Amino acid sequence: MDGQEAVVERFDAIVVGAGFAGMYMLHRLRERGLSVRVFEAGNDVGGTWYWNRYPGARCDVESVEYQYGFSEELVRGWTWTERYAAQPEIMRYAAYVARQLDLRRDIQFNTRVTAAAYDESSNNWTIETDQGDRVTAQFCIMATGCLSASRVPEIPGLDSFKGDWHHTGAWPHEGVDFTGKRVAVIGTGSSGVQSIPLIAEQAERLFVFQRTPNFSLPALNAPMAPDYVEHWKEHFMAERKRVRATNSAAFIPLNDQSALEVDPEERQRHFEERWKKGGFVFITSYNNILDNLEANRLTADFVREKIRQTVKDPKVADLLAPTNHPIGTKRLCLDTNYFETYNLPHVTLVDIANTPIERITPDGLIVDGHEYQVDSIVFATGFDAMTGALLRIDIRGKDGLSLRDKWEAGPRTYLGLAIAGFPNLFMITGPGSPSVLVNVIIAIEQHSDWIMDCIDHLRANGLNEIEAEPDAEDRWVKHVNEKADSTLYPLANSWYLGSNVPGKPRVFMPYVGGFANYDKICKEVVAKGYEGFRMG
Ligand code: NAP
Repeated sequence: MDGQEAVVERFDAIVVGAGFAGMYMLHRLRERGLSVRVFEAGNDVGGTWYWNRYPGARCDVESVEYQYGFSEELVRGWTWTERYAAQPEIMRYAAYVARQLDLRRDIQFNTRVTAAAYDESSNNWTIETDQGDRVTAQFCIMATGCLSASRVPEIPGLDSFKGDWHHTGAWPHEGVDFTGKRVAVIGTGSSGVQSIPLIAEQAERLFVFQRTPNFSLPALNAPMAPDYVEHWKEHFMAERKRVRATNSAAFIPLNDQSALEVDPEERQRHFEERWKKGGFVFITSYNNILDNLEANRLTADFVREKIRQTVKDPKVADLLAPTNHPIGTKRLCLDTNYFETYNLPHVTLVDIANTPIERITPDGLIVDGHEYQVDSIVFATGFDAMTGALLRIDIRGKDGLSLRDKWEAGPRTYLGLAIAGFPNLFMITGPGSPSVLVNVIIAIEQHSDWIMDCIDHLRANGLNEIEAEPDAEDRWVKHVNEKADSTLYPLANSWYLGSNVPGKPRVFMPYVGGFANYDKICKEVVAKGYEGFRMG
């Protein structure tokens, strides 16, 4: 960044991103009288939901839970229509919130932040965008999302492909018509699992290229009965308060019993009962599924059996039944007719676990010497999760320290909120916080409220600067790692660990210690006068 260029505008705070985090943060900052500018790369609010418009895109947190909880008025004024809201409905909800809170006037759309640099003499951040903006602000708040930096893998030959190709995380707004086409889908995570059944409905021929099979549970999505909706509106505020005091931060009831202490018939009956409810309630059937290998195996066996019962060709069923990671250690998927889709005669599963896609040709893809000829390729290949969106911005803290250099061996944060060497910079749902392991809207509200209280504290005490102390950061990173190592999570190659991105350091990024525990720690830090932070 050239320090000689003229600064155009000055704000109290800059927020990067207008997804659910940026929207709420803007509301909070403005409520407290701060001048704020939000920069958003998309043309609308909604964040990840703005970009992920692929067929079947749907939230896998129940819609009654996937909403803000800070305003009863907002809750009462919005009516969800399905158990799991589809992407267009979530976008309508985001638009509703933006309208109710009059957010758009402070959001600059179609603008990507490219650089942010801290000036120690003025305690200000200077932020630059791809539209030529150059603004300063005392606080810079990264609401950049955990799953927003989509990733197309480097497969040689993509440039030569004659057909069209799309990434699920950057789907064309006008939609894609696959009618009569031969289509390749690469990737079988949540995005692949959701889109494959719908692409199969249109395509003449569908090839699914699977590197790792995933565990998927039936969503059992359905329209919501009006009396259920009303019930939720009535009880939402109390229920949200209650779940915020739990470690799962979800309405899903955990059966606080070991899977190993019940007899096999009872366990089978209980699994079946929860399976029939649909959704993630299945994975909380017992309290030790995610930290005891035997409990996990019993749970996984039940799901593998369900896959075998659904998929008619035993060889295909074997390929689809995951055996290389404990269930739940890669993000679980929820689906509608995913496994059933492989019974369709025009759908072929191509196992690329040991024979990666060699290259893309003008007419298709080559695997194990065989060319699969297709008209369209869908990359459901995921994201540079949790750190990608931050590191794509050239962020420089004290003494010009680059975040890319600081995080070369993996992300280091204090509480997932702040970074030593980067004063007055905050992250919402940053690495080292519960974020993607809980209902992210609850995580967003908790972080934004903490940040707002912190800024209030600085202003009330005439302080200009807050910075995480290196030793507090070291202790936090150690704690996050120890928590992860006490679970089965590190046994899977997952995006939680960055293993989906070649060359990315293998570090377990989210905090598995539980939402309520984490919230308590954040409150204690404040109660002890912002312990672990230096203020001045
Ligand atoms: P993902 O879970 O990372 O899945 C990406 C898939 O692409 C994996 O199957 C991966 O295989 C495969 N892949 C990546 N690079 C590849 C390559 N070079 N060659 C072949 N295969 C490759 O990404 P996602 O499905 O987009 O989901 C990411 C997260 O977003 C989810 O876990 C979830 O948290 C969130 N999400 C939520 C919803 C929802 O609310 N319903 C929907 C979509 C996404 P490997 O497993 O072997 O790496």
